[in-house]
Amino acid sequence: MNDLWLACASHLESELPAQLFRTWIKPLVFLGYDEGDQLLTLGAPNRVKLDWVRTQYGDRIAQLATQLISPETRVSFEIAGNAEDPSAQAIQPAPNHAAISEPQIDPQDQSFANLQPTLSAAAERTRLNPDLTFETFVTGKANDLARAAALQVAERPGGAYNPLFLYGGVGLGKTHLIHAVGNSILARAPNANVRYITANQFFQDMVASIRRQSVDEFKRYYHSLDLLLIDDIQFFAGKERSQEEFFYAFENLIAERKQIIITSDTYPKEMSNIDDRLISRFNSGLIVAIEPPELEMRVAILLRKAESAGHELDEDVAFFVAKHIRQNVRELEGALRRILAFAQFRHQPISLELVKEALKDLLSFNRGQISVEFIQKTVADFYKMKIADMYSKRRPANIALPRQIAMYLAKGLTQKSLPEIGELFGGRDHTTVLHAVRKITELRQHRPDLNHQIHVLEQTLREYL
Ligand code: ADP
Ligand code: MG
Repeated sequence: MNDLWLACASHLESELPAQLFRTWIKPLVFLGYDEGDQLLTLGAPNRVKLDWVRTQYGDRIAQLATQLISPETRVSFEIAGNAEDPSAQAIQPAPNHAAISEPQIDPQDQSFANLQPTLSAAAERTRLNPDLTFETFVTGKANDLARAAALQVAERPGGAYNPLFLYGGVGLGKTHLIHAVGNSILARAPNANVRYITANQFFQDMVASIRRQSVDEFKRYYHSLDLLLIDDIQFFAGKERSQEEFFYAFENLIAERKQIIITSDTYPKEMSNIDDRLISRFNSGLIVAIEPPELEMRVAILLRKAESAGHELDEDVAFFVAKHIRQNVRELEGALRRILAFAQFRHQPISLELVKEALKDLLSFNRGQISVEFIQKTVADFYKMKIADMYSKRRPANIALPRQIAMYLAKGLTQKSLPEIGELFGGRDHTTVLHAVRKITELRQHRPDLNHQIHVLEQTLREYL
């Protein structure tokens, strides 16, 4: 089973810049795979790596695990380092200034090995990712305001907008921007008490502190910060105690003119299950949206990211990718990684042809407006059956097989989950869909006639993507 994790890891290695792979993925260890629960458990050496890997790579690792291990595999992360490791604790003790202000580096020696301990001490203390800075943040109309506000806050923490509240969809750069503020403040004031935390982690830390009866310590820590960066606050929904603790920390920090920056996927007034008290506090600062990047910005991001990975992209290639990958920056990065990996793999220059080939799945995926209903109708037409039989419980083979083919195609050509697909096929269980997907995948191997039919159906459907 360890081999399966190694296979996932080698996929990640081909997708990620080498340094990111070395920093975040390589240190992970395989802790076990529970066949019954279909649960893959991975160990991270400390809390910082655990949090970061979980939030930044968790989805991708889970996706690879479902592809390489089994479709229902889930992934969990644990700390698998030395139990004495102080970072393994939920709450950081008072920050260790000495490690920051008196770096034990031989000034003559600039080698990475020597810089590493100081870098990670700061990262460990603040949980900031040093790579996410204003310098690496590409601007355009979509994020101009947010960036300007963040810059002001970085220049005058506590004195400009407090709190600064950034909201927008996934992968648009919210996390990047708040790290940029943190890094910028830290660069000027290395001893500042800066802390980045996701709302989810705040919740977990709080629960841990209740269990350890150290809530006072928890409060003291949060009340002592100079800059609190709290990410994805929508996770507080329904978690009343967390909201309450956060509210106290918030009141304290604001009163002392300590800066708070909050991100969320929604506009404060539209957040559900969040205390009105908190929402009205959010309104007392500045609320700014980050919008999805416009075409020019997507091109600029691709060019910049390629360049920093040491590659040059032709503009027509960048335009092509930017035109087709529209949703968000994270997807753009993913597409670029694939292109670079592909070019390296094939020892070919990055041409339009190569890009089309590399992004084949992604492109249809992205344009995909195709609905399960449309797939059902197309398959029913093809096999000359009634569309109602897609939902019916009837089971003769001449109906059941096309229905399974339709489920298979729905899984492959839409973004719907197994339960959603099951629902659209007359309220069937997700295991029925899973069974269909497996069976058709298998049949395609040794039934050339059927394989051809499905191929034709896929081609037909892709026309509409
Ligand atoms: P969010 O927190 O809004 O979901 P992230 O900040 O995690 O989004 O951004 C997703 C990825 O895209 C990150 O790797 C981030 O560095 C990158 N990114 C987002 N916006 C920009 C930008 N304007 N310039 C450069 N990289 C960006
Ligand atoms: Mg984020």
